[in-house]
Formats: sequence, C-alpha cells, structure tokens
Amino acid sequence: MGEIRVPDVVLNDGVRMPQVGFGVFKVEPGALAGPLREAFSAGYRSIDTAAMYGNEADVGAAVRESGIARDELFVTTKLWNDSQGFEAAQQGCRESLERLGMDRLDLFLIHWPAPRQDLYVETWRAFEGLRDQGLVTSIGVSNFQVAHLRRLAEETATVPAVNQVELHPYLQQAELREYHAAHGIVTEAWGPLGQGKSGLLADPVVTGLAEKHGKSPAQVVLRWHVQLGNVVIPKSVTASRIVENIDVFDFALDDGDMDAIASLDQGRRGGPDPDTFG
Ligand code: NAD
Repeated sequence: MGEIRVPDVVLNDGVRMPQVGFGVFKVEPGALAGPLREAFSAGYRSIDTAAMYGNEADVGAAVRESGIARDELFVTTKLWNDSQGFEAAQQGCRESLERLGMDRLDLFLIHWPAPRQDLYVETWRAFEGLRDQGLVTSIGVSNFQVAHLRRLAEETATVPAVNQVELHPYLQQAELREYHAAHGIVTEAWGPLGQGKSGLLADPVVTGLAEKHGKSPAQVVLRWHVQLGNVVIPKSVTASRIVENIDVFDFALDDGDMDAIASLDQGRRGGPDPDTFG
C-alpha cells in the first residue's frame, strides 16, 4: 500500500498539524528505528515524543535516516515535570533539541500541570519566550484541566495551541472539549485506543461497527476521533497496525454510529489524575 495522505488541522497560531501522528511512548530506545521506518512509509509525518520517554535521540536518528525533509515533518516533544519553572523550562527545551539533533520543535508541550508544584504559569512564560526566539514553532499543554487553562488565560498572553489529554470512548472529556472549542484550542487525544488494555477494542458496540464498515475496531475508534476533530497519536510497533491506524480516511461513521460510540462514555481514566499527579 502507498502512503496515506493525512489531513491537517489548523492551530490558533495559523500552523498546520497532521490530524494523525505516531506516538512513541514506551518504545524502548533502540527499538524505534523499525517502527518509525514503517510509519514514514505508511505516510505518518507527525511524531509525538517526550523528554520522559527517553527516546528523543532515537527519534532524531530515525528522522535523519528517513531522508524526509525537516519541514515536511511535525515533531512534538514535552517538558517533564522536574524541569518546570522559567529557567529550567528553557534549559529543558535546549536539552530536548540537543537529544533530537534539531534546531527547532514544531510543538512543545508542558507534559503535566503538576499543580502542587505551582510552576506551570512560569513555565508557560518560558514557553512564550522559546516561541519568540524561534526554537519552538507552536506551544501547547498536556493533561491540563479547565481550571489550569483558565489560569493561563487570566495570567498570560498566549492561549495554548493544543491540549493533549487522555481521550477515548470510555473517557470522552466533554467539559474540556467544550472549553477547547470555545477558546480555539485543538484537542489532541493520547491513549486514543484506550491504550490497548481497557477492553475498548473488544467492546461489542465497537466490534459491531467494525463489522458493519468492514474495518478493524481500532479504525472505527480512530475514525470517531477524526470526525470529532481530534488530533490522534496512536502507538504501535507492529507493522500491520501502524498501517491500519493511519488508514481511516476512506470511510465515514454516520450519525447513528457516532451516537452509539458517544453512549460508551464512562468517565474512566486509564492514566493518572492531572489534579494530583506530579
Ligand atoms: P494507545 O491508545 O495509542 O494504545 C496503544 C496500544 O494499543 C498498543 O500498545 C497496542 O497494544 C494497542 N494497539 C495499537 N494499535 C492497535 C490496533 N490497530 N489494533 C489493536 N490494538 C492496537 O495508547 P498510548 O500509546 O498510551 O497513547 C498514544 C500516544 O500518546 C503515546 O505513544 C504517547 O506518544 C502519547 N501519550 C501521551 C501522554 C501524556 O501524558 N501526554 C500519556 C500517554 C501517552
């Protein structure tokens, strides 16, 4: 199969970001080259890593090996909790760039609000500076709740371009999505498939729709995200699944299908609670 062409979403700073990207959480350093090669040949041009994943250097190496021009790629990384604060965040960005072997990030995210540290506003001011210096094209946040977004709105001058949060049919994040829509923040879903462990891909509603459309359960769930306007970054190290997860642009869920998936919401998190984590 040839490369799938992925549509872009437009961020509030005018930058375009592919709606489907490749997540690399828990891919061990050294094990990333093969999957990333598969991903590039399937058509992925956006990669989601983080300082905490310990694989930024491998991402950089795989990008260079691919021969794909840097400006055709969209590279996201995230600042870890122990690097929050004005100086530490600027330093954290430089260190990520060094590990990636790049002179610019497409998107830099505050990984968690870590509200007990109470440093995310200062960190955000550092991010504005990194953007102004051209080290980072777009700036955003991850795992921010509405209260954290409100505080940035009250105390700083920049609305995040993106909020990357846990989001899947068992945790649909209605309140956050509404806030994002009202304030021009793109919703990016991590764990878009329920992290493969939630039972989501075996849910009878999902498997029923998969059968109806002649697609896999993962494709049905990713298509649901895409039709809601979410950016998704599914992770797989299996070649056939890497291809499957980007191949979601040749069918459509109808209103009844979308309603059936909407009815699966249980407010069930697989990951940590952002109000207490960090
Ligand atoms: P995911 O929902 O993408 O699930 C990945 C798992 O689902 C795989 O390990 C595999 O077991 C299974 N899977 C993948 N494709 C499949 C398919 N086609 N059919 C059947 N099973 C399939 O969960 P994730 O990896 O946790 O999240 C995706 C990405 O989001 C991560 O790689 C990372 O980049 C990002 N992330 C960010 C945060 C954050 O705090 N910002 C947290 C977790 C993950």
